[in-house]
Amino acid sequence: MSTPLLDVTDLVVGYGDHQPVLHGISFALDEGELLGLVGMNGAGKTTLMRALSGGLKPRSGAVVFRGERMNGASTAACVRKGIVILPEGHRVLRPLTVEENLQISAMRLSRRAVRRRIADVQDLVYELFPILAERRTQLAGLLSGGEQQMLSLARAIIQRPRLLLLDEPSLGLAPVVVEKIYASLKSLRAEGMSMLVVEQNSDRLAKAAERMIVLRDGRIAASGSTSSLRGAELNAAYFG
Ligand code: ATP
Repeated sequence: MSTPLLDVTDLVVGYGDHQPVLHGISFALDEGELLGLVGMNGAGKTTLMRALSGGLKPRSGAVVFRGERMNGASTAACVRKGIVILPEGHRVLRPLTVEENLQISAMRLSRRAVRRRIADVQDLVYELFPILAERRTQLAGLLSGGEQQMLSLARAIIQRPRLLLLDEPSLGLAPVVVEKIYASLKSLRAEGMSMLVVEQNSDRLAKAAERMIVLRDGRIAASGSTSSLRGAELNAAYFG
């Protein structure tokens, strides 16, 4: 069996002195896979994403990415290694233009990598989201909600992740924009990007993910192929 891209073992994560939020999470994500992560509000999905992308140091357990132990790595170190998070909500720099937003995100890469990659990746981003090319000199704060979400995703993509963590990419968006976002994820997978995607809207996610994990009260309540988890079983896993 080949080594997974991401291997998470017995991960325990919490905030400050509080009881842990995640009580020993284990799963693997294969190269090229889009793995879905679902669960009710407060189940711990965002906490898991933070722990995987350097925002929160696990109390115990292991996060191994491409064979390398990542526990406690900073967000910047995670980005350099290829793990990039698209957090919940639109994260754009409102007083700056679309192009400046992309350039600032690209600066998180090393200077040499930036020079080599930014032009290529910028082309890819504008190909995926032609509206951003049209609006490249417009202030990000003046974009619609859907366009801001596309720009947020573009800012993550420009960092050339191997593993993209997406926290509710379709939250609050019109169905037509949701479809655009998912179409772009499909194109990015064809470019070799792997993904872990959190959604409240498990139906939309199920169409894109081969496998899903259901998180309940900080534990994995169910996991498996999307077809095996659909319907009643998914509901049971959600609600206990
Ligand atoms: P949602 O779908 O509402 O975003 P979620 O599954 O992503 O939910 P988390 O945001 O990971 O859940 O929250 C899990 C638990 O961790 C909740 O009980 C929440 O109150 C707690 N929590 C989240 N952030 C913090 C924080 N900064 N400090 C303390 N507790 C927190």
